Amino acid sequence: MKLVFATNNPNKLSEIKSLIPSGIEILSLKDINCTEELPETNPTLQENALQKAKYVFENYGFNCFADDTGLEIDALSGEPGVYSSRYAGEDCSAEENMKKVLDKLEGEDKRSAKFRTVIALIIDGKETLFKGECKGSMTKTKSGVEGFGYDPIFTPEGYELTFAEMNKDEKGKISHRGKAVKQLVGFLHR
Ligand code: IMP
Repeated sequence: MKLVFATNNPNKLSEIKSLIPSGIEILSLKDINCTEELPETNPTLQENALQKAKYVFENYGFNCFADDTGLEIDALSGEPGVYSSRYAGEDCSAEENMKKVLDKLEGEDKRSAKFRTVIALIIDGKETLFKGECKGSMTKTKSGVEGFGYDPIFTPEGYELTFAEMNKDEKGKISHRGKAVKQLVGFLHR
């Protein structure tokens, strides 16, 4: 089976490839000559994941899936949430996003947060959603160089390490994306 993973994020692509068993061939957007930015203009993760998957299915005709992920910090009323990628402004870097989070949490003792992922799968026009969540807390400083995005400032519940101090396999076993992908794989093998 061939499935396009509708993302322009090389880190997500590499994480997903390590989580999906070899019987399912994952194609990237580059593999199908899709070079444009995918639209992501909705107020919820679910709608954005569906929007990205539909864009690829309708314009390129491939069975595909897309993920949308948000970091929800309790002391910031759930921010950055669906705006996680552009929290510090349009086209901002992960460094700028992390700085904004750490600045906003300066002096705050309540550090609890969670990552949420929604995956939208489209096979022959039929849409199915899968969800994954990982609870944890925001650190006070950055640690680690693995992963991407907010990984250096997020410690999953029950661990001392940030996601950026874990390798891809360790993160995949407990992460929001890992949990959503596990359901996706179960669905494809049903
Ligand atoms: P999106 O799902 O591509 O819209 O990603 C939203 C934002 O969350 C981006 O800034 C990503 O870098 C960040 N993000 C998504 N997944 C993860 C993750 O697994 N760890 C850390 N940050 C992530």
